[in-house]
Amino acid sequence: MALRRTSRITGVVTSRFRLGEADRVLTLLSPERGKFKAIAKGVRKPSSRLGGGVEPFAELHLGLASGRTFDVVTQVQSARVWLGLRGRLGSSAVAWYAAELVERATSEEQPEPALYDLLLRAWDLLESGAADLLVARWTELGILDAAGHGPELDACLDCSRAPLEGEELRWDAEAGGIRCATHGEGAPLSSDALRLLRALRRFAPEELAALRLPAAALLEVDRALRGSILALYGREPRSRSFLDEVMA
Ligand SMILES: [Zn+2]
Repeated sequence: MALRRTSRITGVVTSRFRLGEADRVLTLLSPERGKFKAIAKGVRKPSSRLGGGVEPFAELHLGLASGRTFDVVTQVQSARVWLGLRGRLGSSAVAWYAAELVERATSEEQPEPALYDLLLRAWDLLESGAADLLVARWTELGILDAAGHGPELDACLDCSRAPLEGEELRWDAEAGGIRCATHGEGAPLSSDALRLLRALRRFAPEELAALRLPAAALLEVDRALRGSILALYGREPRSRSFLDEVMA
């Protein structure tokens, strides 16, 4: 048998699916390697040595052997576990959603350490008790910014005029940003929603708590960023409908 190339790497599981009787194919994200797939053989058997080690919401040290199609996980050790996310349905739904957003923004075998950090920061925020929906919106905005599609929040995309206090604006998901009522169309975006978007970009949790925003502003921001994410990826993330169900 030919000698297999082996490697060690740090990463997180962003998605997984079952293969055959007892295996799982994992999509992993690593700051050094970007996105890649690996197979965890026999991992669904109770006797598996890998077993609980390849759970989600954990940063793992992995031993890998190169395989025919995918690398094969030979060893796994948890470096850090976000245990708080596993027991809370809302937080874990946002954590999976954030993982999918980051997974889709990362290319195969292309290191994207900033996106990796964004995902870990989202999990940190969730675990520290930040509101689940705010973390979901923060992650969406962070992805857009990191992908070079960060929406314009300071001036109308058309006339470059800064919005006045209390002015009702429009959101342009395709071009990315705000427009004044004269130069935009579609659903209105209130100045409360704009304040929330700006605070999310800074993500100062105490500032967000102090905003005392009407629930309507959160809905407007949800709709605006949802449109922007759709424009970025061309379709809705798979985990979005589960998130909506959990949050309903
Ligand atoms: Zn304008």
